[in-house]
Amino acid sequence: MTDAQSGAPLPDLPDDFSSVLVIVAHPDDPEYGIGSAAATWTRAGKRVGYLLASRGEAGIEGMDPAESAVVRTREQEAACKEVGVESLVFLDEPDGRILETPELRTSIAREIRRFQPDIVVLLNFQQTWGGRFFNSADHRNLGQAAVDAVADAANEWIVPGARYDKVSRILEFGAHPTHRIDVTDGVEAAVASLACHREYLAALSDDPVEDQARAQIDSTLTWEGDRAHLGFRVYG
Ligand SMILES: [Zn+2]
Repeated sequence: MTDAQSGAPLPDLPDDFSSVLVIVAHPDDPEYGIGSAAATWTRAGKRVGYLLASRGEAGIEGMDPAESAVVRTREQEAACKEVGVESLVFLDEPDGRILETPELRTSIAREIRRFQPDIVVLLNFQQTWGGRFFNSADHRNLGQAAVDAVADAANEWIVPGARYDKVSRILEFGAHPTHRIDVTDGVEAAVASLACHREYLAALSDDPVEDQARAQIDSTLTWEGDRAHLGFRVYG
């Protein structure tokens, strides 16, 4: 796995942390790539939590949002079990209308204080995916809100309560990577975890759900011999 500009090998992320909070907009956002890292970390005894802004109720074509919210919550709970994630929290923001408000930042900051992560992991919140496809407003707004909430959590006046300032790094998946993580131990769990989004994936394509899940996870990995690596942009 190499740097896009220099061609130099990407450095490994230092393994000096024990807790990780993944903060994303929708059910399935952690499963499209981050899951192999999450499974690797939980297997290594690290504490990993998922914080989801919405229940993805507007995400299944032809399915009423009220029903979709129930289905997608259930699928997300199953997906978490596959990768050993025991803490799953929803903030019940409106799917498709997530804004970076002070209230959302406060909600995220409170969860950061409650979970006390060493590292926060986000999905790409840039304008585009590699310059070719536009990113969604929910991903942009939620990612920016999470970055700002890390700072809010460390300020007792902006969010009343005990400060938490121990987030040492923020990782972004899906943006140009600066570091790599060996996720070999988590690959199969990541495929199983994404395949838990059964009704969601079935609505997207006629291909078998397991095939879709494996193809997606494969597309995120770089193999070196029998070791699989996942890239992250690392801040901090
Ligand atoms: Zn999403």
